[in-house]
Amino acid sequence: MTKFSVLILGSASASPTLTRNPSAQLVNINEQYYLVDCGEGTQSRLREHKIKFQRLHHIFISHLHGDHYLGLLGLLQTMHLLGRTLSLNIYGPKQLKEIIDINLSYSHSTLKYSLVFHETNIEKPTILLENEQITVSSIPLDHRIPCTGFLFKEKIKPRIVNIEEVNKLGIPKYALNKLKNGDDFCFPESGKIIKNEVLTFNPEPSCSYAYCSDTKFNERIIKQIKDVSVLYHEATFLERDIKRVVTTYHSTARQAAEIAQKSNAKLLIIGHFSNRYKDLNLLLNEAKLVFEHTVLGLENLTFEIA
Ligand SMILES: [Zn+2]
Ligand SMILES: [Zn+2]
Repeated sequence: MTKFSVLILGSASASPTLTRNPSAQLVNINEQYYLVDCGEGTQSRLREHKIKFQRLHHIFISHLHGDHYLGLLGLLQTMHLLGRTLSLNIYGPKQLKEIIDINLSYSHSTLKYSLVFHETNIEKPTILLENEQITVSSIPLDHRIPCTGFLFKEKIKPRIVNIEEVNKLGIPKYALNKLKNGDDFCFPESGKIIKNEVLTFNPEPSCSYAYCSDTKFNERIIKQIKDVSVLYHEATFLERDIKRVVTTYHSTARQAAEIAQKSNAKLLIIGHFSNRYKDLNLLLNEAKLVFEHTVLGLENLTFEIA
């Protein structure tokens, strides 16, 4: 059974408060960690959850507003102080590399480990990372400065062998891997072919998680995130403050819900809440009027995606 979950490390917009940190999330796919955005205080949150920094190999930064990356420089420094030697992949806007380099240069620091920088493409969806289990693609968003979200998508899983049928028909063990890949089986002596669907069951469904960071209402993303298992979408404001989304390029809770509904998401997590709202249920209730399966992406909550 696949493990696929997201831990919310920060849910505030703009500035930290006593109870909420700016944006950061930890995606866990089969105990491989992916850090998504790294606002102030992310190190402490990771420590609270006993996440070893050495297990982080991929950090994705959506854009260069401070509430999404100001925790990164501190985290990189701590990794250095802890003696890290494993290389670290960072995905983000190209100027992020300049910021990191200037910081290291003026502090006369040379990291003990190498940083591998991957520039994100803000023009079109692009695969940033691919391994045996998943792909991670950028989602071009519409914000005041260049900004991308990230789509984590499991690859199609192997078909499940029908052991009872395999044993009954005397299919040799060497053929099992090919069956999992969808191949039919052919008895070498007789040439008799047994169809794959007789010998296997459908694979477990593949799941996906879309992280839609700061953006104004943008229907262009729907095609890319269609049928996503879980959608995180910022919901900075209430509809009553909709004038603010025009200048800030953010979304209301209702707009986030409309994106979830139109993309046929199974679950919507909202976050990046403006500090002006003391009662976040106002945002939740507004979203639920459009999309019932909405939850607040509050600090320290874990959401299962598989
Ligand atoms: Zn922000
Ligand atoms: Zn922003």
